[in-house]
Amino acid sequence: MKIITILCRPGTMNNYAYLLIDEKTGTSAVVDPSEAAPVIAACQQHDTRPAYILNTHHHFDHTDGNLEVKQFFKAKVIGHDADAGRIPGIDLPLKDGDTFSLGASQAQIISVDGHTLGHILWYFPGSKAVFTGDMLFNLCIGGIFEGTPDQMWQSVQKLKALPDDTLFYPGHEYTLYGAREALYFSHNAPEVVAYLDNARHRLEQDLPAGPITLEIEKKCNPYLSASTKEEFLQRLQH
Ligand code: ZN
Ligand code: FE
Repeated sequence: MKIITILCRPGTMNNYAYLLIDEKTGTSAVVDPSEAAPVIAACQQHDTRPAYILNTHHHFDHTDGNLEVKQFFKAKVIGHDADAGRIPGIDLPLKDGDTFSLGASQAQIISVDGHTLGHILWYFPGSKAVFTGDMLFNLCIGGIFEGTPDQMWQSVQKLKALPDDTLFYPGHEYTLYGAREALYFSHNAPEVVAYLDNARHRLEQDLPAGPITLEIEKKCNPYLSASTKEEFLQRLQH
């Protein structure tokens, strides 16, 4: 599966939408169309008409482009059934553990409450890719708006159970924001310093900091590297 990163709301919220193209069948989908114009432009540039819009959660900075992109390409909107009443244009509500076929590419829906209630990961095991929305960013995690810290802890454990060589694709470019706490909690660990050097180098070239493997993220992200729930909760409150 080909994955194209689309920066949306640059300079303000720095959202990432993604265009996924299953190369065997040509079937494509858009993850979290934050705004329509850059997403439609990317689809046209890659000469594809997405059949699906895959949402990670209901927040406007992930779904504002839903209706326009849906109408433009006649795409179907897919999200968690808990968000059935608040994801614009939703056609197909899915549950934790459900699978979804994007052409020949299989996705698993993994429920990760915390940032919101109804947040999901879109995990494509065959492509070793997981789209983490506002649950996991580079070196940090999403704010807890609807769930509880306990739920976020559980969600982090689910994410950490995915294979180490999985690449993650977050909903925002927040690497430099996450850097301060990652350096602080790791006492300037060399692997975190190297992570940041690499990220800065990529960002200077207008590239996303990632994708990063879960193996590296588990070592460098202070919320993934917390070894106990107590330590995790302490870091959240810091
Ligand atoms: Zn959000
Ligand atoms: Fe967001």
